[in-house]
Amino acid sequence: MVELTPDLLNQVYAKHLDWYPAIKNPERSPVHINGIGDILDQFDLVLLDSYGVLCRGPKPIEGAVEAIALMRERQKKFCVVSNDTMTRRSIAAEKYQQRGFDFSAREVLTSLDMTDAFLETVTSPESIGVIAPLEHPSNHLLEGMVRLNGCNGVIPDQVNTLLFLTGAGWTGKMQKNLTQSGTTRQFRLLVGNPDIGAPNGNKIVATPGYFLADFAEQTDQKSKPELFGKPAMSIFQQAIKEYGVTDLNRVLMVGDTLYTDILGGNAVGCKTLLLTCGVYQGLNIEEQIEQAEISPDFIADQL
Ligand SMILES: [Mg+2]
Repeated sequence: MVELTPDLLNQVYAKHLDWYPAIKNPERSPVHINGIGDILDQFDLVLLDSYGVLCRGPKPIEGAVEAIALMRERQKKFCVVSNDTMTRRSIAAEKYQQRGFDFSAREVLTSLDMTDAFLETVTSPESIGVIAPLEHPSNHLLEGMVRLNGCNGVIPDQVNTLLFLTGAGWTGKMQKNLTQSGTTRQFRLLVGNPDIGAPNGNKIVATPGYFLADFAEQTDQKSKPELFGKPAMSIFQQAIKEYGVTDLNRVLMVGDTLYTDILGGNAVGCKTLLLTCGVYQGLNIEEQIEQAEISPDFIADQL
């Protein structure tokens, strides 16, 4: 487990902004609201981040279950859009049900769903090295690929593509071996979960985006990685397409991370709501916005 500080987390995101869609901020300064109920009439579809918006660990965040009930009552469509590469939508929906949310599989879209769609198109699996625990729900699609966890991070010669899928079980030693064996070589880079870090108790733990960033910096990779999760526009567009909504002004993205949820939501053309109950809890939100130079349409303390 590799731990990060909040400052380092922001620094790594900021350093790799060229991997993300261009920043496209709203023209107005953010409007502070009490909760989603204040603005729900303006929207037909609400996209929701999971961690830091709906739940913190296994516990729902205060007000989240009630906010979902309110959306149902007002017949608003919604979809959880999560950078989760350990669960696909059907399993994720069951997980949320255990936490008190009544989501159907259709109301959840994960970056594993997006990654799976890519994996189904792979024709030369032997040239792909994958970072993922040996027990992984997409193992049937990873068949024939090189499992880098099993190689202790050392990249075999036949590998020309690296897929940073899931960070669980990936150690500092494996990362060191990966970097050492990747020096003087160039790779096609793919990342299932572009998040740099995830809150875990009081700590922030490095996630695949961090290992990718570290590898790309240490080995001076020239190609931009392909992202299967937020802030890439494809995952937002997939969710919006599934609901058949065409007026993007009537779509709201709710998140707690400026560099993924808000940057991506703005880029796609949705309105965005930043919550302060997640990764920025206890920090000055205006300062975070100023430093990142990424700004939402709305700010609230919780859903
Ligand atoms: Mg989050």
